[in-house]
Amino acid sequence: MATTDTDSALNSSDHNDPGKGPRINGENGSGNDNTGLTPPLVDLHLHTTASDGQLSPTELIDRVAATSLRIVAITDHDSTEGVAEAQAAAERHPGLTVIPGIELGTEDGDSEVHLVSHFVDTSAPGLQDYLTFLRNGRVEAAKGTVNKLAELGVHIEWERVMEIAGGAVGRPHIARAMAEAGYVQNAQDAFQRYLGNDGVARVRRPKPSPGDGVRFLHSIGATATLAHPQTVKGLRNVLGFLVDEGLDGIEVFAPKYGTSDRERRLEVASRNGLIAVGGSDYHAWGAADEIVPGDPDTVGPPIDAVERLRAAADRWKASPPAGDFNVCGVPETPGGTQATPGAG
Ligand SMILES: [Zn+2]
Repeated sequence: MATTDTDSALNSSDHNDPGKGPRINGENGSGNDNTGLTPPLVDLHLHTTASDGQLSPTELIDRVAATSLRIVAITDHDSTEGVAEAQAAAERHPGLTVIPGIELGTEDGDSEVHLVSHFVDTSAPGLQDYLTFLRNGRVEAAKGTVNKLAELGVHIEWERVMEIAGGAVGRPHIARAMAEAGYVQNAQDAFQRYLGNDGVARVRRPKPSPGDGVRFLHSIGATATLAHPQTVKGLRNVLGFLVDEGLDGIEVFAPKYGTSDRERRLEVASRNGLIAVGGSDYHAWGAADEIVPGDPDTVGPPIDAVERLRAAADRWKASPPAGDFNVCGVPETPGGTQATPGAG
């Protein structure tokens, strides 16, 4: 199937370059250009045990404090619960700044669209109710999937699924439990036979549309940036309407992107007036090929990106988007006191 220019520019991946090769000038995250080879100073995408990361916020902060990184963002899935602990831990490390963030899961048809948000006021009205609603939906859908599997003769323990997840539970954890119990060869097999988008055991959880996600984040005065664009199906289309919604940025700097991926994405970012962001998306899963935050052979976003994100968040705080919007089919008033999502 033919892909559009933007799709191929964004989705293609130069497999020969794992992103640890030579850097191009001016992308070193040092904020000074054309010197290259400076270890990254900024990582805007990190996970903790508040979602599916394996390190507590304190452990993560202690670890990044020992690297070149000076500005990091805690961006757990549908949760800001790791932020306060991370900020407290950072107080023991002068010169290290923690940006409060979140990674919001949204869905466009069958395509997952993750929005990484920065400068989140964790006490913004409506935010925690909304996140609780999303997290409950995640658990309910996973439970529903386990029940559906049981009806199909696939018996896995819910407790084991939760153990594997260690936080934000989802289909990958169910797949691993299925493989452990010997029902499938591996996670891929589980998705193909049971859990995929058209799978017999698929239970959908309520998720906002990408547009509603962007509007929600803006309504609480935070930024909205597109995470790992290479995973978004129909990216050209999605990016088009998200830019119209006021999307602030797009991930360009990620250790797994090669130099030519970054060049293409930088070009797409500048063409659409988006801030080029990114980070390691670190979970501390312990895989041999997992790149750790602050790896001196990787490229981080420039300091300038952080200043631009802060300015964008300040603009949204000063003038949030007008009007109601719809969260998961539940009418919601941004920042309002009425109708918490899921209450109806
Ligand atoms: Zn992530």
